[in-house]
Order: sequence, then structure tokens, then C-alpha cells
Amino acid sequence: MGERAYNFGAGPAMMPDPVIERIAREWQDFDGGGYSALELGHRSEPFADILARAKADLRELLAIPDSHHVLFLHGGATPHFAMVPLNLAREGQSADYIHTGYWSDKAMAEAAPLANVRIAASAAASEFDRVPDAANWQLDPQAAYVHICANETIGGVEFADYPDTGSVPLVADMSSNILSRPLDVSRFGLIYAGAQKNIGPAGLAIVIVRDDLLHRARAAVPSMMSYARHVEWDSMYNTPAAFMIWVAGLVFEHVKKAGGVAAMQRENAAKSTLIYNVLDGSKLYTNRIQKGSRSRMNIPFFLREPRLETRFLDGARRRGLINLKGHRAVGGVRASLYNAMPLDGARALADYMTEFERRYG
Ligand code: PMP
Repeated sequence: MGERAYNFGAGPAMMPDPVIERIAREWQDFDGGGYSALELGHRSEPFADILARAKADLRELLAIPDSHHVLFLHGGATPHFAMVPLNLAREGQSADYIHTGYWSDKAMAEAAPLANVRIAASAAASEFDRVPDAANWQLDPQAAYVHICANETIGGVEFADYPDTGSVPLVADMSSNILSRPLDVSRFGLIYAGAQKNIGPAGLAIVIVRDDLLHRARAAVPSMMSYARHVEWDSMYNTPAAFMIWVAGLVFEHVKKAGGVAAMQRENAAKSTLIYNVLDGSKLYTNRIQKGSRSRMNIPFFLREPRLETRFLDGARRRGLINLKGHRAVGGVRASLYNAMPLDGARALADYMTEFERRYG
């Protein structure tokens, strides 16, 4: 087996070691029952307990109020780009989107045939280097909802604060920053997140939805795309992703033991500061995101001379700093520092960056 690497991949991302060790232990013999964790049946007693505990732990971690339901669904984050307008927008109603980069763009594109999509604010003119100032958003008070991407995983732009959208429900794609800091869930109508960054294996999505939004769909929505149906069936309308939900629950337990989301926030601030400090003092690396909108989760940067990029990535890999290559849409380097990345991992990367600049800068 290779030495444990610091995995800076954007997702599927690094998982906490104690969770991986637990999976390894139960892989062949789940809870001493004589069957593999992969065979965990969704109608079994252990699973009923696992689902209930995962929900309760997520509720506790994010202080989710009783007004909101928690769902564990298949298919990652992408189905929600369409499910949100299908379930929340009525005929002719507008849906406001805040355009902050690649993922909010995808969300808008999927919603366009299903709702009257309005761009209420966009950072396109400044090449997505910030979250547009909420004071200048052109919101429609009649809109079905306002959609934001809380953290643009590719661009490295994160909302430092969440806007107050009054009586219009705020909908957030939190795929890449859920559980990274405390959150006032009562300010959101709906939150969705793919699990493969801060929670667990890819293919699972977490949805937190306010009860009064469940019956707004303008027409019959297919069951698998209906939030109301999934709530009615407690995330078991069809066979749930039992193994992945178990793993997500192990991560919630781990985060609770590690001090909850307030501790994650402190760690994430410390880790990202280490990297941003190197970038700010550098003549070799550049990151063009405005300071107030910098992501603590994903830090994309470029080397002044692109020919040095391969050398940088190769050297990193040799040190066990892996998956630093930027997204294919933008190139460059991207360091993802989700909850499971230890402070030592961020320090190792910062030290390597400094050393590399001394040598080649
Ligand atoms: N939204 C954001 C912010 C993402 O980062 C991603 C995946 N990287 C997605 C949506 C899509 O997630 P999935 O591949 O699980 O559908």
C-alpha cells in the first residue's frame, strides 16, 4: 500500500482517516453480522437506525429547525438544477439567479426550459472574480426563489455571508462548502449538496427543504424528481444508497467528535490562510479572486510561466501532494481544502509552494 497522500482533489475528495478505517473494518463483516457493509439492506433494522441517526446528526450539526426536512437522495447535485424549478416555480413566475461562475451557470442552463430564469446579478463582467455585492442585486419580489451557488468549486469564489431575500425563498447549492462553517438554516428555503466533498462518496445528495415549499409544483412531477414524494417516503421511495448513507453518517459522527462545524470553520480558516499567505507574498503564483469572495474550500491559482506548471505538479505528487491539477475548463492548479484535509496537509502544500518559488521563481 502507498503512503497516505494529502489528496487535494475537488471531489471525490479526501475522507477522514478514522472513517476509512471504520469502513475497512466493517467491509467484510458489518457489525459482526456476517455480511459485508455493501450488503447492508435498506429494510434491515441496522439501516433504519443508520438513516435515523444520520438525519439526527446532520440536524444537530447544522441546527436544522423542525420547519425543514432532511433528504438523502441519489444522483449527486446535478438533478437539483432541474428539480428546484420543477418543484418550486409556478407557471410564468420568475426565478432569480446569482451568476457567480461555472456551477451557477449550469444551474441556470438546466432551469431555463422549466422556469422564467432571470439573472438578478452577475459577476461575468469582472470574469467571476467576486460575489456581486448584494446591495446591487435586481431581485424580483414575485420570484419563485433566489438561487445561489454558495461556493463555486472551479472558480474559487465563496459567499462570505448569505443574503436576506425576505419572503422569497433562498435556494443554495452548497455542494462544496456544506458543513464547513455554522449556518442559519432558517434563512434558506432549500439547500442541496452533492456529498463527494465534505460528506462522503459521490452519487449521494443531501437536501434540506422547508416544509411549506413542498407543494408548489405547477404540474405533476415524476416521483423521483418530487421533493414532496421523497419527504413522504423518508428518502426511501426507491432503494436508497444504503452504503453511502452509512458512510455519510460516519462522517457526521466524526465531525461531531471533532468539535462540530464551528471547529471546522476554525480549521478551514487556518488552512486556507496558509495558502493565501503564500499567494499574496508571491511573484510566481497568481489568484485573481477579490479578497472578500475568496473560497476557503477551493483555491485555484496559476503559475506565472505555464511551462512550470507540469514541474510544479510532478514535484507535488512526489511529495504525496496529489490531485492539484486545475479543472479542465480553466487549467492551472487548484488546492481543495475540505474538512478532511488536515492542517498539516495545507502546511505541507504551503511549504512546497514556497520552496518551489525559491527555486524557480
Ligand atoms: N455544484 C457544485 C458547486 C459542484 O462543485 C458540483 C460538482 N463538482 C456540482 C454541483 C455537481 O455535482 P454532481 O457531480 O454530484 O452532480
